Amino acid sequence: MKPFDYVRAARPAEAVGLAAARPDAAFIAGGTELTNLMKDGVLAPGLVVDVGGLPLADVGLRDGRLRIGATARMRDVAEHPVVSGRFPAIAQALLASASPQVRNRASIGGNLMQRTRCWYYRDTASPCNRREPGSGCAAVDGQNRWHAILGGSDHCIAVHPSDLAVALSALDAVVLTLGPDGRRSIPLGDFHRLPGATPHRETALRHGEIITGVEVPASPVARNSRYLKLRDRASFEFALVSVAAGLTLRRGVVTGVRLAFGGVAPRPWRAAAAEDALRGRPLTEGAVAAAGRAPVRGAEPREHNAFKVELVQRALADILTDLGGNR
Ligand code: SF4
Repeated sequence: MKPFDYVRAARPAEAVGLAAARPDAAFIAGGTELTNLMKDGVLAPGLVVDVGGLPLADVGLRDGRLRIGATARMRDVAEHPVVSGRFPAIAQALLASASPQVRNRASIGGNLMQRTRCWYYRDTASPCNRREPGSGCAAVDGQNRWHAILGGSDHCIAVHPSDLAVALSALDAVVLTLGPDGRRSIPLGDFHRLPGATPHRETALRHGEIITGVEVPASPVARNSRYLKLRDRASFEFALVSVAAGLTLRRGVVTGVRLAFGGVAPRPWRAAAAEDALRGRPLTEGAVAAAGRAPVRGAEPREHNAFKVELVQRALADILTDLGGNR
């Protein structure tokens, strides 16, 4: 690991000021991600600004919205009664993530900022446009079983690894930030960028800008929501395909539906066309099948991940059956 300067910020504005003054600065909170990347030589910040002690760990309902502070720990959020009772997809996504030890340390802001698990990204001997712009993408013609079937480009086909981000996307969350130019509210769907020709630019954050929290509107759809994660092993594993869904029915007809997929794209993949295929229709097997085809229309599977096209459809059928039986 290369030597670096370290400073612990006491207030959000102080953290922003410290990082904004140094182009080589990076933020750290729980330390479960950045330290690994630094040890592996993937990232080498000259200044590490510790935001883990900032007073941003609040969780609760305010004005009809769930507010989760950026430094709240994953475990604390998953176990919060408001989250588990009124936003179960969020609690389930958190509990499906990482390991108990990691969830005890990792922060909500850090979870949204985590880097891809593409093995070439973390192997500094491999070409990777995300780690080293212009070097190429080893995954396009390499081992791409875990990689994207939607939203990728010839420059990068990595998937975003966060389970939480998928649930937040489905439930119309907004990311709250503070930067050198003040506060912003960024819809979760706009927070993570598609790679295009610049996969190294991963989020909408500007240099020196920090996440202060996320907000999620409370709704009947959020209350009847689920998260389903399909993976190679039952714990401490990233998704091959995941789906977050919220559903309301009246006399068997879909009155509200929110759907987002993980493990298939460089960012949480909101499935608006699948929602349109269900809204206002009876929740029949045929309607579910039609909805399952919508998100993978135009999918571009690679050599090792064509199975994800069918897995998306099966995952959606499973979760809608579960939710539909709940009403
Ligand atoms: Fe790098 Fe993206 Fe290619 Fe993986 S898929 S090697 S992260 S450019």
